[in-house]
Amino acid sequence: MTTIVAASPAQDTHFLWLDLTRKCQLQCGPCFNSSGPEGTHGTMTRGDWLRVLDQAADCGVRRVQLIGGEPTLHPDSLALADSALSLGLYVEVYTNLVHVADGWWALLQREGASLATSYYSDQADEHNAVTGRPSHARTLANIKKALRLGVPLRVGIVATTSTQRVTEARQELEALGVKRISIDHVRPYGRGAHGQALDVSGLCGRCGTGRAAVSPDGNVAPCVFSADWLGLGNVQSTPLAAILSGPAMAEAQAAIRSVAAKGGDEDDDGCDPVGDGECSPGYPSSSCSPRN
Ligand code: SF4
Repeated sequence: MTTIVAASPAQDTHFLWLDLTRKCQLQCGPCFNSSGPEGTHGTMTRGDWLRVLDQAADCGVRRVQLIGGEPTLHPDSLALADSALSLGLYVEVYTNLVHVADGWWALLQREGASLATSYYSDQADEHNAVTGRPSHARTLANIKKALRLGVPLRVGIVATTSTQRVTEARQELEALGVKRISIDHVRPYGRGAHGQALDVSGLCGRCGTGRAAVSPDGNVAPCVFSADWLGLGNVQSTPLAAILSGPAMAEAQAAIRSVAAKGGDEDDDGCDPVGDGECSPGYPSSSCSPRN
């Protein structure tokens, strides 16, 4: 007997990841989508992304997160963030904070804009060993700049080993004045998968419920962790609302929930980018930090 899975209304999706690129200056060991210097911006054009933003706002999305890869390396990312803010959407930019151009600082001080980043250690060598580049000083300097400018900021500390100076990193950030800090673990996707098969068991169980992601090639997925392997439709050929409310999304939601009901990722407290913005790709944890 065929099981019919009821589709949710597109209006139930309040949070959308704009997963802009696989290009990044860094090459972090646990990167959940294997981004790096050789990555590309995919096939989505500026017009495609602008149309997705319009469609998202029309169907009830209230928050978007620009992510990748390093989203600020995408040539249209600043214009897309500006457009999203102009549509009345909250915009979080999930960046490695290696290089933040002046135009970004101006945008980040606008109402509705905020910043998220990943951090690995209070010791530069340990942080740099994860990112594959000497990035610690730049990221830390830009964390301090964000605090100075009053840009809303949250930081996900991603624990890649049991000996990593996670506690010290947290203490350092708290002393600087960072209020929103989560401790995250590595997701079994991208380079973090270490060759193991990709499936929904590493997801938090809430993916696709109230949230969805659009990949650099236009694929819609339940979340950023599944953007490269769980396409549910493509916004280059199908309206976003039709994909969000379609049968493929409903079936993916049911599969993810059934794994979560059996235990799923037991270390995961869930990903909640909708309620309080606590979601960072690549590496989530207590509150889902997708990427880093
Ligand atoms: S984890 Fe983030 S900063 Fe690191 S390579 Fe991936 S996209 Fe770049």
